[in-house]
This record gives sequence, structure tokens and C-alpha cells, in this order.
Amino acid sequence: MERRILIVSTASLLAMLMAALAALTHFSAIHSREAKREQMEGLQLYAFYGLSQEGVGVHRPQLSVKLPQGLGKEGVTVENDYMGHLIAIRIPGAKEDYLGGNALLARTDHIKGMRMEDGLIEVAMDAVYEAESKVENGYLHVDFYRPWQVYDKILVIDAGHGGSAFGDVKQKLMEKDLNLSIVLELKSLLDEGGEGIGVYYTRTEDKNPSYEERIRLAEEVRADFFLTIHSNSSADGQMSEENGTEVMYDEAKGDGSQQLAGICLEEVSKALGSKANGVFPGNRDYLLRSSKVPTVSIEVGYMTNQEELQKLASSTYQRQAAQGIYNAILRAAGAVRQ
Ligand SMILES: [Zn+2]
Repeated sequence: MERRILIVSTASLLAMLMAALAALTHFSAIHSREAKREQMEGLQLYAFYGLSQEGVGVHRPQLSVKLPQGLGKEGVTVENDYMGHLIAIRIPGAKEDYLGGNALLARTDHIKGMRMEDGLIEVAMDAVYEAESKVENGYLHVDFYRPWQVYDKILVIDAGHGGSAFGDVKQKLMEKDLNLSIVLELKSLLDEGGEGIGVYYTRTEDKNPSYEERIRLAEEVRADFFLTIHSNSSADGQMSEENGTEVMYDEAKGDGSQQLAGICLEEVSKALGSKANGVFPGNRDYLLRSSKVPTVSIEVGYMTNQEELQKLASSTYQRQAAQGIYNAILRAAGAVRQ
């Protein structure tokens, strides 16, 4: 008996040491990636790998931190940067010395590192997690779940281009902005409805994640499908009569992408009253070809058509496009890859 306890505690010690080392090593990676991030201070990472011996089936939160006196759940915000695997817990009034002096317990080996500054604990995870938090007896408890533990259906939405990648530019309108506006309208619809559907966005601001990062997100969250939103242009880029909605999919895959493309075309053109040009093979498109989940590219309308360009720039048309995509999502969620 004594020997068993000794082995357990040695193993826990070793685990703690390794977790601390891993945390520090990973932190330097985060640090170099985000130059603006300051030096980590006050790291307290306790990894209790042996805790199950305390009682099988007893739920223990994966991260707990004591809150400053008088602060309840409504005062705490948890932000999740899925692309960066970073979860930011904002605790107003918790200064750095407070966080340094109060117990912060982490009981998971999926935490790679932590950074603390005034009012903020930033946790670097080893993958995409949903954070569920509650306040009890003056403590904030946070549990981490993989997306498929939380949602029935999962999808990734990608606003095409972004940052220095403008996409097409016509009359000072940039495709990256039109795509993002539609995606943000779609986000507000999905935030309100779309129950049971976990939605992950490759970007919700003017950034340009790489194709690999966009594809990786869909793979990592085990997305049932992946929609990338674009605005079209004529083949030679000149203004023309060509107009309407089309959807592309990778014809080399038999993964339901074609069916998904059909649903999107129907719903989006219906919501917009636009011409449904059809679904088109898109194996030449790097993202469609490389994505590991059913993926389609929705080309909402033509920036090279004067009338459609003006529509695409209007918030009414953007909202209608979002509504069409939303309707397609609800339909597809019931149909694709059960
Ligand atoms: Zn595009």
C-alpha cells in the first residue's frame, strides 16, 4: 500500500514537472507567433494526473480559479480563439499580483501554457475546445470539451480572402469585405437560431488565415461540412452582363459535396431572387481539393455585373444572401453525412 502511494506520487510529480516544462516550451512558440504578447508571468500550472484515485465518477472541473471578492459569473467573460487554440478568461479586478497569489488549478494535460496579466488569464490549449464555465462558492470553474462532445452537427464557415488578399476589386469594392459582411450577417442568424449546430469561423475580421489554417480548422473540429463564401467575376475580369449565383464543389470526391452544392445553390438563389447558374466542378480550386470534409464554394453574385455589384454592396442583399445560406445550412444539417 505504501509502495503504491509512493509510485503514484512520484508519477504525479513527474507529470507535474513534464507539464510545466511542456507549458514553458509551448509558451515560447506562442510568444514568437504573437510578437505583441508580453513575457508570461506568474505561471502556476498544477497538473494532477493522479486525481482519479480521489473518487471515481466525481466530477472535477478542469480549471478553477478563485474570483476576487464580490465578482459573480456575469462579471467574467470567456473568449475563444478557435484558430489559435487560445481561451481568454477575463476577470475584472484580478490584478497580476492577485492571480499570482491565488490558487489556479488545472487538471488537464490538454493545457499547453498559460499567460496572466491584469484581469486576464490566457490559456493555450492543444486543440479546439469549447469552454463551459460556472461560478460556485467564489470560484470560477471551467471545463473543456471537444466540439463533437457538445454539438450534434458541426460546420465551418469561411469568408473568402481577407487582410492583404483582397480577392476581386471593382470600383473600390473589395471582395474580401463583401464576403465578410455576408458571413457576419450569417453569424448573427446562426447565433440566434441554429440550435445544436456548432459553427466555427475561419475569420470574423479583416484577417487572412492561410489555406492550410482554414482547412485544418474544419478537420480539427470534425466539421460535417465546410462553406466558403465568395463573390464572382467574369473570366476576363471585365464588367459584363454575366450575373447570378453559382456553387462549386470538388467533383473528384464522393463525400456529399455535390449534394451540398445543390442545396446551397437552390436556397441562396431563392433568397436573393438571383439567377441560379448551376453547380460547377471545382477540383482545380486548392481549398476545395485539399479540404478533408464535404466543402463547397458559394459564389453569391458577380462583381463584374454593374447591377449585381451594387446589390452585393448593399446590406439588404447581404442579409438576404446570409438568409439563403442559413436556410441551406438547416437543410443540409439534416441531409449531409448523418
Ligand atoms: Zn473569391
